[in-house]
Amino acid sequence: MRSRRATRSTNTETGKRDLRTGRSLWTDGGTGLGVPTAPLTKPVDVDVAIVGAGISGAFMARELARSFSVAVFDRRGPVLGSTMASTAMLQWELDVPLQALADQIGKAKAQRVYRRSRQAVDDLRSIVEGASIRCGLKSKASLYLAGDDYGARALAREAEARAGAGLDSVFLHPADLRSRFGIERTGAILSGGSASADPARLAAGLLRRANSRGARVHSPVEITGVLQGGDRVTLVSDAGIEIRARHVVFCCGYEFPKGVPTHGAKIISTWALASKPLGDPPAWLSRHLVWEASDPYLYLRMAADGRLIAGGEDEASPTRHADPEALAPKSRAIVRKLQALIPGLEIEVDYTWAGAFGESTTSMPLIGPIPGMPHAYAVMGFGGNGITYSVIASQIVAAAIRGRPDPDADLYAFA
Ligand SMILES: Cc1cc2nc3c(=O)[nH]c(=O)nc-3n(C[C@H](O)[C@H](O)[C@H](O)COP(=O)(O)OP(=O)(O)OC[C@H]3O[C@@H](n4cnc5c(N)ncnc54)[C@H](O)[C@@H]3O)c2cc1C
Repeated sequence: MRSRRATRSTNTETGKRDLRTGRSLWTDGGTGLGVPTAPLTKPVDVDVAIVGAGISGAFMARELARSFSVAVFDRRGPVLGSTMASTAMLQWELDVPLQALADQIGKAKAQRVYRRSRQAVDDLRSIVEGASIRCGLKSKASLYLAGDDYGARALAREAEARAGAGLDSVFLHPADLRSRFGIERTGAILSGGSASADPARLAAGLLRRANSRGARVHSPVEITGVLQGGDRVTLVSDAGIEIRARHVVFCCGYEFPKGVPTHGAKIISTWALASKPLGDPPAWLSRHLVWEASDPYLYLRMAADGRLIAGGEDEASPTRHADPEALAPKSRAIVRKLQALIPGLEIEVDYTWAGAFGESTTSMPLIGPIPGMPHAYAVMGFGGNGITYSVIASQIVAAAIRGRPDPDADLYAFA
């Protein structure tokens, strides 16, 4: 029996509005970034249909195109969703510290989540290097500063808990912070194994790689409905064209597909900026990602061309990011915080932008089969390390489709 289930892929919060306001640093790379696309003019039949050509759809397409026929659909052009707004700090540390996560989901599971994220950043690096994707990928350490949410004592305990889980983190006392980084805080955690990149070129490179393995990207194509029956899923496009697939993977970012449980995840607004290349930055800055244990938190890192990229000033509103009037004051607030943190830093702001951002209470993603929707999977990467989750999602969904379930699938499942 066939049943119709509307997806429309718009939720009441983000709707079809733009996910970004302002000009992000990556926009100048050009629309599509060299990803070959085709309009959808006739029905398609593939092993896997992927809805969404952002970073999640891109990792998914690259992985699945190794074994299956794949088609990707996006109602915008490729990489024009929230990926274009990302500051792309590629971190394994979650927004929720290991100990706080352990309080929520238990110690053993929390350790597995952290270790899986750690592995995912390494995997991301291998994928980028293996495919020779030019996206400014650079390995970095991460400096997590004591703040309003977690002070020095809590961070010292957190560093110990992470070390106990086999993770590469050490606590820094104020004197170490001052002498090594010139930063005045009551403490920090220094961790290895992070990275940064240009997220748009990364996603475009992955899509081009998938394309070279036969995957096709169709845009602009909005998926407005799903028909289910037998061993196939049929997607329906806005033009009424049917796409038949053995499996469908929704990689729709923060535009939650209807009918997919979100377990209380929320859409908020966040702001970011990129400076002109810095004149004389402290030498350590290009080798570290910096963020803080505050809410909202300031975060910063350098781009390959010497610009400083920073963000924060989050607001609980799902729509405030769309207000162009908010860009200038938010940017000034971020600059003030940067200059308070790193005295003597001279910043000339070149780009300011804002975006929608998805948050969950655990800062963990939802990845896996959609309950009640056979042959359908969804990827929802919440929290500050959404790109790390895009890697994990491609591994978990590909393993499920190949019939060899990933041992960590239970951590991120919808059920
Ligand atoms: C300002 C900002 C800073 C960030 N910084 C970081 C960071 O430092 N590190 C990090 O890891 N993460 C960061 N993130 C989060 C990260 O950017 C996201 O997790 C990631 O971009 C999500 O990618 P995605 O592919 O899932 O979604 P998107 O890039 O939004 O792609 C989803 C695509 O699906 C398409 N789509 C949706 N519905 C349909 C439909 N019905 N039919 C057809 N197409 C559809 C959309 O058009 C869109 O192109 C940041 C986010 C923001 C906004």
